[in-house]
Amino acid sequence: MTASSKNLSKTLKESGPAPKLKPLLEETLKRCNGERRRENDPVGMAWAFTHDEDREVVSLFASSLAYGRVDLLRRAIDQVLQPMGDRPAEFLRQVEPSVLGGLWDGFVYRMTRGPDITDLATAIQKTLRIEGSLENLYLKTPDKSRPCRLDRDSPLISSRAEHLARASEFVMTLRDRRRRPEVVRGFRYLLPDPADGSACKRLHLFFRWMARGPDLVDFGIWKNLPPAMLVMPLDTHTARLCRYLGLLERKSIDNKAAIEVSRRLQQFDPRDPLKYDFALCHLGISGRCIHRRSPEHCPNCPIEAACILPQHPVGDPR
Ligand code: SF4
Repeated sequence: MTASSKNLSKTLKESGPAPKLKPLLEETLKRCNGERRRENDPVGMAWAFTHDEDREVVSLFASSLAYGRVDLLRRAIDQVLQPMGDRPAEFLRQVEPSVLGGLWDGFVYRMTRGPDITDLATAIQKTLRIEGSLENLYLKTPDKSRPCRLDRDSPLISSRAEHLARASEFVMTLRDRRRRPEVVRGFRYLLPDPADGSACKRLHLFFRWMARGPDLVDFGIWKNLPPAMLVMPLDTHTARLCRYLGLLERKSIDNKAAIEVSRRLQQFDPRDPLKYDFALCHLGISGRCIHRRSPEHCPNCPIEAACILPQHPVGDPR
C-alpha cells in the first residue's frame, strides 16, 4: 500500500460518507440524462424491446455480456440477440431446443464463446417453459413452498441476505439447465454465483434493471424484490468513485464491498439506495474523473465538494 493510499484509507475511516454527499448525489442524478446515457449502456439494448417478457430475457443476455468496452459489448449483445428476432421470449418458448445448438456458431466475445450463449439460451428456454418467467424462477427459490404475492407494499423479500440466497439459487438453477453436460468456465463467467464471494457486478446489474423503477434507465418489472434489498453492481470504476466519496473502505472489490456500498447508500435513500448507481457509473465511464485531482476535470465534477482525494496530485489510491 502506498503512502497516499494509506492516507486515503485513514481519511475514509475518519470521515465516512460526507454529510453533504446526499444533495451532491441528487445533483449528479439530476445532471445525468438517463435517456441519452442508456444509449451508451447495455441496458439500452433491452429498451429496444417493448414487451416486459422480452425485456426480462434480453436483460439477462445483455447484463451477462456487460464487460469490456461499451461499443464492443453492445455489438456482441446485438450479435447474440439477432437470431432471436423481435420477440426473443416468444422465440425461446417456441423454438426446438436442437435449433439453439447452431445459432451462435462462431460467436466470440473475449472469454465468451457461442456454446456459452447456447447454454444460457437453453437455461432461459427451460425456465420460460417451466416457470413462465425468470422472475418466477427467482421467487421459487430458496423456499419453494412460500406463496408468491405480487405486491411491493408487502414484499416477499425481506432482507438483503434473503435476496442473495435467492440470487445464488437462481444462478445455480440456470447453470443446471445448460445444454452441455459440464459447466464450462465461459458459461460460469456469464452467470457468477454471489455465494462465491465475488462482487457479481453483472448479475446485480440485472437485478437492478428488473427491480428498480420504472424510470428512464431501469424497468421495474419485478414487483417482489424491493429496491432496498438490491446490491450495488460494483466494478473497478464505481469502487474507486465510492472510495473517493467515503462510501467504501474495503480494499477488495467483492461481495462484502458491494454490500458495504449498498448499506451506505441506504443512508441517503432507505427505499431506493441504488438510484445513484447509474449516475455514478457514468461519471466514471465518461472519463470525467481521472482518479486524481485535476484543475481541468474537478471543477466541473458534481461531487467535488464531497471528494476526499487530496487536493495535490497523487497516484491511484488503490
Ligand atoms: S472531484 Fe475530481 S477526483 Fe474527485 S471524483 Fe470528481 S473528478 Fe474525480
